[in-house]
Amino acid sequence: MDKTLSLHEDRFFPSDPTQRAIAQRLYAEVRALPIVSPHGHTDPQWFADNKPFTDPATLLVIPDHYVYRMLYSQGVTLEMLGVPRTDGGPVEKDPRSIWKLFARHWHLFRGTPTQMWFHHVLHEVFGVREKLTQESADGIYDRIAECLARPEFFPRALFERFNIEVLSTTESPLDPLLHHVKLHASGWKGRVVPTYRPDPVVDPEFAGFAGNVLRLGEITGEDTTMWSGYLRGLADRRRFFASQGATATDHGHASAVTCDLSRSRCEDLLTRALSGKITPVEAQEFRGQMLTEMARMSLEDGLVMQIHPGAFRNHNPAVFRTFGLDKGCDIPTRTDYVHNLKPLLDRFGNDRRLTVILFTLDESTYSRELAPLAGHYPALKLGPAWWFYDSPEGMRFYRERVTETAGFYNTVGFNDDTRAFPSIPARHDVARRVDCAFLARLVAEHRLDEDEAREVALDLAYRLAKQAYRL
Ligand SMILES: [Zn+2]
Repeated sequence: MDKTLSLHEDRFFPSDPTQRAIAQRLYAEVRALPIVSPHGHTDPQWFADNKPFTDPATLLVIPDHYVYRMLYSQGVTLEMLGVPRTDGGPVEKDPRSIWKLFARHWHLFRGTPTQMWFHHVLHEVFGVREKLTQESADGIYDRIAECLARPEFFPRALFERFNIEVLSTTESPLDPLLHHVKLHASGWKGRVVPTYRPDPVVDPEFAGFAGNVLRLGEITGEDTTMWSGYLRGLADRRRFFASQGATATDHGHASAVTCDLSRSRCEDLLTRALSGKITPVEAQEFRGQMLTEMARMSLEDGLVMQIHPGAFRNHNPAVFRTFGLDKGCDIPTRTDYVHNLKPLLDRFGNDRRLTVILFTLDESTYSRELAPLAGHYPALKLGPAWWFYDSPEGMRFYRERVTETAGFYNTVGFNDDTRAFPSIPARHDVARRVDCAFLARLVAEHRLDEDEAREVALDLAYRLAKQAYRL
């Protein structure tokens, strides 16, 4: 077998020669554009402190739930991969053996976006020219480790080399944003901005909800046990986030349920939520009300709202008990938007000052619900193919199902939504290539002129994200 690692320059392009040539021309226009990353989960401390990343496994394997969900499905335990247990119990500590274990199972990722992203990271970021195998694992580990110790691989240098114009992180309203404050004071010109994600204080079923709401009160000086003080506290933190550069909020609710309840019902639900006496149905009502409240606040402070519903979180209770949240056992579930969003849209859907960006883990809703909604309501836009569908097939399917009803301009460009910092250029590159491939087909079929396609390619790769997220 060929042991050379190479990236084909026409990867993800159509194999049809006419389309391929068009895709090549379009891609040449967008490949070097700066990266706008308006939603993601990198750690702002990396950029605030600018300390070297410690080792290849801690950077590339241990934090990546795409990686260990696949390995787990094939019998590799999370302990063997060094994923920390919530009880502090024993797990593998040696990064080199974690890396070698990963390399031994690398074939499992064939045909997945993880393989495509990883190849890009190895080849482009670390200059590796050899495929990852059991035999090459040690050598590649050494090469990456040597790179990481050099200043040009420190977080800020990589940020600059990746040509990132702006990078958004994601934080709870209780977060003091110390790393962002430090970053802004440091004089470094890289732009890293927080995103306001209030799930811990607006979801009665979030672990520690009542304590979180009390903490919100302490931070803001409001009586958050009362409905009006609670809302003022949330608005106060939104203003603080905006003062640190935030332009968006994010909401990871299980469903897209929104509500528009009477004030007395809201007061009653908050009291029940804080006393822990709320039923699951009422908790859903409360979350739904909070989406509508957040939309109302967005009209006041201009923050763009993102709704990321449809994940059945922690589907595997055994893994959740031992390892906690975000360990690769969240599973997509069916999601309704048409009925569930109606209360929020009845209030605010026609207001052009508001931008609500919708995401889905239910691909069946693209052409049936999401594109018709976003193709009508001025306040709605569609986020890109997300999470399990952040993949060549997922993106292609998204464009195919959405474009004819919502057009390109009710979509918002690409989000990498990642914790895996070195993979950010890889992810944006895949999105740019797949969009160019889609556009190339429209041009080849004489449904779009090539000069129009070129403009759309630039918009999808760069301008729409900046515009939609007000960055
Ligand atoms: Zn996210």
